[in-house]
Parts: sequence; C-alpha cells; structure tokens
Amino acid sequence: MNSSTQTNAIDFDSAKLQRLGFGQLQNAAQRPVDVAQLRHQLGLQLQTSLEPERILTIFFRGIQRMIPLTALSYEHRASDLHLKVGEGGHHRVSYSLSNEGEHLGELVFQRNQRFSEHELSQLESLLPCLLFPLRNALLYREATQSALRDPLTCTGNRIAMDQTLSREIEVAHRHKHPLSLLMLDIDHFKRVNDDYGHSTGDEVLKAVANSIKAQLRNIDMVFRFGGEEFLIVLSNTGREAAAMIGERLRLAASHLTYPMLDHPIELSVSLGCATLLPAESAESVLRRADSALYVAKRQGRNRLAMAG
Ligand code: GH3
Ligand code: MG
Ligand code: MG
Repeated sequence: MNSSTQTNAIDFDSAKLQRLGFGQLQNAAQRPVDVAQLRHQLGLQLQTSLEPERILTIFFRGIQRMIPLTALSYEHRASDLHLKVGEGGHHRVSYSLSNEGEHLGELVFQRNQRFSEHELSQLESLLPCLLFPLRNALLYREATQSALRDPLTCTGNRIAMDQTLSREIEVAHRHKHPLSLLMLDIDHFKRVNDDYGHSTGDEVLKAVANSIKAQLRNIDMVFRFGGEEFLIVLSNTGREAAAMIGERLRLAASHLTYPMLDHPIELSVSLGCATLLPAESAESVLRRADSALYVAKRQGRNRLAMAG
C-alpha cells in the first residue's frame, strides 16, 4: 500500500476562523449537519481540561465519530511535548498550528486509507475547536513548569525537589528498589565571585549545572538545593552505581573550561552520596548525603564521599 504525507499549515487568524464558521453561523448547505454538532460538543468537552494529553484524547475520540483514524500525534518542541493517541496508519496528514504568529505545535492524523478531500475539509473545520483549549493548556503547562524551575540554572527548584524526592522515595520503598542521592557543591565558589564578580559567577554556575545535566539520562532529577549546591536523585540506583555516576560528574566538572573568564581556572566539585535505607525518610537520607558532602570537603575537596 502506498504511503503518503500531506503537510498543511493552519493559522488560526480571525479571517480563517470566520471562514470556518467560528465568527458567525456557517454555511450549512456545504457542510454535513453533524460537523456542526460535533464542533459544538467538542467545544464544550475541550473546555474541561488544561492537560494537553487529555485535550488531545478528547479531540481524537470526537473526530473518530465522524472520520475513522488510527492515531493522532501532537508535538510542541518548545515545551518538549510529544504526545500520541492510538497507533499506526500508513497515510498521514499533518497540520502546523499557529495563532497570531504563535506556534501551537504540529498535529498528525494517521490511518490506513487515503484521506478524501471531503474528510480533509471536515478535519479542517474541526481543528479550530482546539485553538483556545490547546493554547490555554500550553500556557498552563509553562506556568506550572516555571514554578518548579530555578530560572538561573534551569534545574528543578526546592518545591520540585521536595515533590520528586517524596514521590521517588515512596516508589522505592513500595517496590523495594534502590535509590541514591548525590549532593554536589562547587569548591571555593566564593573566590570566583570575589575574583570575577557575581554575574560571571552566575555564568560559571550555569556551566556547572549544564555539565551535570549533560552527564545524566534524566535531567528532571537535578535540583538546585542551595546557592552553589545541587541534589541529584538517582532512582533505581544502588550504592556502587551512584558512586560511579558521582565520580563521572566530578570528572566532568573538573574538565570544564570557562570561555567567559579571562584566564583558565581550576574549579572542582565535591560530592556526598547516600543510598536510601529500608523505611528511611527523605529528611534522613538528605541529612546523610549532606554529612557525606561535609566529609568530602573536610578531606580536601574535589572528591566524593559515601555516607556510612
Ligand atoms: P566550599 O568549598 O567550602 O564550598 O567553599 P565555597 O566558597 O564554595 O562555599 P561558601 O558556602 O563559603 O560560599 C558559597 C558562595 O556561593 C557564596 C555565594 O556568594 C555564592 N553564591 C551562592 N548563590 C550564588 C548565585 O546564584 N550566583 C553567584 N554568582 N554566586 C552565588
Ligand atoms: Mg561551595
Ligand atoms: Mg555551598
């Protein structure tokens, strides 16, 4: 069977919305009556959620009542969103969504039969139902995510850390999976500020944070614990594996170069590592990682110490 991909751009500007019948009663003679009903129902249903995934599922289910589809996928790269409802289909029709110059993502409909012109025009008349629900969901996602992120280093903030840590610890206890923490602190960071100024210090801090993230598979597990201190939550990771990861982070940081400084500096980090004990609380394992970090500092810095 032949495969095909059609790519279209849909700009939800007001002229298009008018033409599609969103500004006034649409030309009923040209469109089947059930499109209008479906649009009405979708309009109501799509207002019920601010979750992109839920919105996409409602839309997919609604459209399927009129046009058979096997899958609907959605991608919004700026917010790192990649969603898919359903599976497969050789024929694809894709729409790049935007409104008043704002990119709202790419939508791809899939199925095994070719799409007819009539079906495409039905699809396109239903797409505007997505405009406001999708835009609101993206805004909401951005707001909730930025409330959980440290703006300087783009790592998780303390709120995110507390949420993630208690969730991961609960899962680890329930499934008897190992979990380890790495507490990482930049050595003699005060000197960087003293010698180069606070804003250069900020750049160095960002570079160290990026180097940590670059070494880890799951960047959602890196949190700014304090000024120049980061916590890394390693789910499903026992003591030895955590020590290896910590050592990798230490080496990566020691090899960093700082183009924003006028001459090379030797900057290192120290780490404390603790592995969750049976029934241990978040506070307790954090305290042990912090004490191990203190040991690493006391033993001369630029090293990793394991909690007892
Ligand atoms: P140690 O090896 O014992 O960790 O020494 P240190 O100098 O890194 O530790 P100390 O806790 O004495 O100083 C931390 C410094 O980090 C002090 C503070 O000015 C700086 N700092 C904390 N947050 C920021 C920040 O957001 N930006 C910059 N530029 N500096 C920061
Ligand atoms: Mg420090
Ligand atoms: Mg510190």
